[in-house]
Amino acid sequence: MKSTSGNYVTNRVLKLNVGFLLADGPGNSHEMAFNLPAIRLSDDLILGYIKGVLRLSRTKEGILVQGQLAVELDDECCRCLEAVSAEITFDLEELFMHPPSFETEFSIHDDGILDLAPLIRSETLIIQSRGIYCRPDCKGLCAECGENLNHTTCSCEADDIDPRMAPLKQLLDSMNS
Ligand SMILES: [Zn+2]
Ligand SMILES: [Zn+2]
Repeated sequence: MKSTSGNYVTNRVLKLNVGFLLADGPGNSHEMAFNLPAIRLSDDLILGYIKGVLRLSRTKEGILVQGQLAVELDDECCRCLEAVSAEITFDLEELFMHPPSFETEFSIHDDGILDLAPLIRSETLIIQSRGIYCRPDCKGLCAECGENLNHTTCSCEADDIDPRMAPLKQLLDSMNS
């Protein structure tokens, strides 16, 4: 986490009042630019920023949210375990139902509030579950000694054969000799 610990805007800024767009009727749309500083998206997720542009379109079923967002996520590299602040981007395309539907978690109730936080949270967690890397070519940790191979080379043998395969290798070696 950054030294700005505790200095976050709340996820209330992602509760958009779209009553005007609901009233405009199908076919109307509205573009919104986001450039938010560090934000507490939910109890379990803080983002360094949220940037991007979304188009909100009134349809017969509700409001369609489309666009691309970039968010900054503090995590650890899934390969070398170093702390990393990674920018991740994702495309959004989600229909927020109005009147609300029980078939989706994305609904707009009579207060006209469209809450983007749960949608951004779920997209962020999907990407996080695939693994965040400190850099695309992270070399990771040595399986033998645990050294971070981005910073140093170790003297372990490059011949990193899977231990479960070792008996097979011995057998092959003995057959070849
Ligand atoms: Zn790494
Ligand atoms: Zn090593």
